[in-house]
Amino acid sequence: RDEQLRQTSKMEALGRLAGGIAHDFNNLLTVIYTSAEQLKFTGGESPAVDLILSASERAAGLTRQLLTFSRQQVMSLRTLDLGEVLRNSAGLLKRVLGEDIDVKLSIAPDLRPFEADPNQMDQVILNLAVNARDAMPDGGMLTLEAANADLDEGYALTHPGTRPGPYVTLAVSDNGVGMDKETQARAFEPFFTTKGLGKGTGLGLATVFGIIQQSRGYVFLYSEPGKGTTFKILLPGVPPGESGALAEPPAPDPDEP
Ligand code: ADP
Repeated sequence: RDEQLRQTSKMEALGRLAGGIAHDFNNLLTVIYTSAEQLKFTGGESPAVDLILSASERAAGLTRQLLTFSRQQVMSLRTLDLGEVLRNSAGLLKRVLGEDIDVKLSIAPDLRPFEADPNQMDQVILNLAVNARDAMPDGGMLTLEAANADLDEGYALTHPGTRPGPYVTLAVSDNGVGMDKETQARAFEPFFTTKGLGKGTGLGLATVFGIIQQSRGYVFLYSEPGKGTTFKILLPGVPPGESGALAEPPAPDPDEP
C-alpha cells in the first residue's frame, strides 16, 4: 500500500483542477471588478459598489493563492545546511508568532547537507509556523529540531514508502490544541481546513507536502488533541562535496572496465 504515492497523484489531480478553476474564475473576477470600477467613476458611487470592489479584490487574492499552489513551480536546487536555514528564519518566525509564543531552535552538530530550493524551505517553515500560531491562541512554545537520521529497513516497516539511507530531519512541534484523528487523516488534503470561511485556505499543508515530495523527502504528522502537534520532515542527505546528486546519476567510474 503506497500511501505516499496515492496522496501525490491525488494532489496533482486536485492541483490541476484548482488551477483550471482559478484561471477561469480570475477572468470573471476581472469583468466584475472593472465593471464596478466603471460604474463608480461614471457617477454610480454607492456603498454597494464599494462592497463589490472590495469583495472581488479579496476573491482575486484567493485565486492568486490557488494559482501559485497549482503551478508546478520551477525548483532551483541548492545544497543547504538545515541549521543555517533555521537560524536564518528565526527572525521571520518571531515576527509571525508574536510575543506570546516562544521559539526554541535545537540544532544538532555536524548536520549533513541536503538539497532543496531555499525559498521553498522557507515556505515550508513559514506554513508550519502559521499553523502552530493558530493552534496556540493563548501562547505556547514552538520547537524546531534538526538532526541527522539513518533510516533502516525497520523504519520502512513502520513508515511505509520510506527508503533506507542517510537523512537530515526537521521536527516542528507546538503545544497547541492538536488534531483529532479525522483532522489528522485529512490535514494534507488541498482545501481541507477547520478554520472557517475566509480564514483558512486549506493549502498550507498541501503546499508543504508538495515541496517535501519534490525534494524527495517525507513528512509525517503526530498529534494529540489538547497536547500538541509535531510535523516530522525527512530529507535525503547529500554526501559532502557531492552536490547535484539528486539531479544526475553518478558519473561512470573511469577505472571500472
Ligand atoms: P489552513 O491553515 O488554511 O486551514 P492547512 O493545510 O495549513 O490549511 O491546515 C489544514 C488543517 O490542519 C487546519 O485547518 C487545522 O485544522 C489542521 N492543522 C494544521 N496544523 C496544525 C497544528 N499545528 N495544530 C493543530 N491543527 C493543525
